[in-house]
Amino acid sequence: MSKFLNKKYCLLEAYTPGEQPQDKKYIKLNTNESPYPPSQGVLEAINGSQVSLLNLYPDPECKELRRNIAAHYGVTESNVFVGNGSDDILNFAFMAFCGRDSEAAFPDISYGFYKVYAELHGIPYKEIPLTESLEVAAQDYIGINKNVFIANPNAPTGLTLSIDEISKICESNRDYIVLIDEAYVDFGAESSASLTQKYGNLITVMTYSKSRSMAGSRLGFAIANEELVKDLEKIKYSTNPYSINRLTNLAGIAAIKDSAYYEENCKKIVETREFTKSELKKLGFEMTDSKSNFIFAKNSRIGGEELYKKLKDNGILVRHFSKARIKDYVRITVGTREQMEILLNVIKGII
Ligand SMILES: *Cc1c(COP(=O)(O)O)cnc(C)c1O
Repeated sequence: MSKFLNKKYCLLEAYTPGEQPQDKKYIKLNTNESPYPPSQGVLEAINGSQVSLLNLYPDPECKELRRNIAAHYGVTESNVFVGNGSDDILNFAFMAFCGRDSEAAFPDISYGFYKVYAELHGIPYKEIPLTESLEVAAQDYIGINKNVFIANPNAPTGLTLSIDEISKICESNRDYIVLIDEAYVDFGAESSASLTQKYGNLITVMTYSKSRSMAGSRLGFAIANEELVKDLEKIKYSTNPYSINRLTNLAGIAAIKDSAYYEENCKKIVETREFTKSELKKLGFEMTDSKSNFIFAKNSRIGGEELYKKLKDNGILVRHFSKARIKDYVRITVGTREQMEILLNVIKGII
């Protein structure tokens, strides 16, 4: 820390992304990326003639992209906001809707960025403990009168809330926003996107990073009431109007058009998840009922950190979290069937 860093940031603890080692080739099961490449349409959209236009700014409104996303989810373009990854959108939502007079609430074990954004902007927040079985208890958020941020499925547990529970939270919290972070929704949960027509305080956030194989291009979107979209745009146009670059914009349009390809990939990932879980169970692992593209697993014969380290020594990266309640677990991204077979063999050797 230099002596110049403003005092307000001295105690800020930044988010720690999962490792992205550049030194050697690992089987990467640590940041929930898709093991499959982007669709053919995406590969074709980003071509030499498009690259040669990089001297020109992109469309700040991303009109065609938003039109395509809207059509896919059965809403209108004015209900769609796009950002440079869903992280960008989460940050904007904290900026736009929270403040000293409008607190935030989120689970104590969830996506680590919620707390970081609250701290970054000096927003008071309440962390609501998960239940004994690591679930988000909907009743804790009903009538809470705070801006609610919930990942559904939650990370790193993969556990879900029902649409009915989300409705009740929106219904009972009318003076505050309810943001549902659906980064993993395509792997078996039900989306709240259609509820945005009914609840003017609901924001459904999704990303191209997981189910749409585009973590490297940074694209996320939110579906919400037109007024909320305008509020988010106000923040975007006050920071960086061109946050979606030309190539990402084109890739995003092509990926929506190739939805069938991504749905097929999601199906494969769900099958591989269930196969891997049943094999891990035979090895004595306990797991949550994950509806995501990751498995959250523990084994009484080996600690989470030790398993993480031994897997890394064997060229496989998974994620370990040191928070007390989940320190026995590792989070394993579901890769291809071949990758998971290698993982299972290595784990057999370790335990
Ligand atoms: C991966 C993830 C994000 C971030 O996605 P980007 O679009 O890559 O910024 C947001 N929320 C959750 C819960 C995630 O797991």
